[in-house]
Amino acid sequence: MPPRMPIESGVPDPFQYMHPLMARNFGAWNYHERPRPGVLCHTAKSGDKIWTVRAGTQRQMDLYTIRKLCDIADEYAEGYVRFTIRSNIEFMVSNEAKVQPLIDKLTAEGFPVGGTGPSVSMIAHTQGWLHCDIPGTDASGVVKALMDELYEEFIKEDMPNRVHITTSCCQINCGGQGDIAINIQHTKPPKINHDLVANVCERPSVVARCPVAAIRPALVNGKPSLEVDEKKCICCGACYPPCPPMQINDPEHSKLAIWVGGNHSNARSKPTFQKLVAAGIPNNPPRWTEAAAIVKKILRVYKEDARDWERLSDWVARIGWPRFFELTELPFTKFHIDNWRGARRSLNASTHIRF
Ligand code: SF4
Ligand code: SF4
Repeated sequence: MPPRMPIESGVPDPFQYMHPLMARNFGAWNYHERPRPGVLCHTAKSGDKIWTVRAGTQRQMDLYTIRKLCDIADEYAEGYVRFTIRSNIEFMVSNEAKVQPLIDKLTAEGFPVGGTGPSVSMIAHTQGWLHCDIPGTDASGVVKALMDELYEEFIKEDMPNRVHITTSCCQINCGGQGDIAINIQHTKPPKINHDLVANVCERPSVVARCPVAAIRPALVNGKPSLEVDEKKCICCGACYPPCPPMQINDPEHSKLAIWVGGNHSNARSKPTFQKLVAAGIPNNPPRWTEAAAIVKKILRVYKEDARDWERLSDWVARIGWPRFFELTELPFTKFHIDNWRGARRSLNASTHIRF
């Protein structure tokens, strides 16, 4: 049989980058322990052991920081690193004596060691101003500001269970499902630049994008354009990506909303959908103090009131939403009640891909 030829897309073969001890024991691990926050120790069936030290980063990293981390890997670890999906860096060492000097070096350089077990792990974020063309807020900035506030919760393991926090910089696309999610919330319909619509937008596809059928074609000043029925519009922002002249981002009216209790399904449990708990929070860079204060308050109450190993959604399910609002002292308003009847039955919940 001819050898399988390399392809030009897709991930590279990971074994070439793997610590040799890990490659040797691939698929043959016996158990693992957490000797301290931020450190995992895996024991293979062969008796080999490997220690993994996890450190937080600022997520969007410059070249100098990456070089510094690589130098630490060469000098204090064994030259092998990997990044987790939440942009933590992990160093692997085959000798326990190397663990503490590595932790000391990382801490001295400002990289917190933690994020394992029942801690607040690094916040996952979408791309924000750096890469995407439709964000209403930065995302990595919110993460950096918030993780600075939650530093102690990252380096310690004293939450009832793991806490996953996410941020999402628009209302409709990637991200935004976690134990606590900080998501953009538009509060006014898009403002249409009619001079540009005919040049830039494919109008039928913009009309089709609206989940509540609020957009219709229109002639404005003799030019083909679009109009929005503002009574129907739910300010979702779905029309803005295919038609940038339908500007929805606004320094004053694009706010943040906080949702809690989201959890992906796993082998044992079904997914849980997050619920809105705070809305209309100022989108206030560079420290996002108002959003940070609410997240910290929710975490403090969860830590005090939840039982061991209860995830945030389990805790809320046990105590009930009225008690959640009482304990967190977040105001419960009419906007928390989902009584809206204007949607097509399923909004955009269909799994079909639409173009
Ligand atoms: S959440 Fe929205 S704005 Fe942010 S990166 Fe994803 S698509 Fe872009
Ligand atoms: S913001 Fe959303 S609901 Fe409003 S017009 Fe655009 S797509 Fe429709």
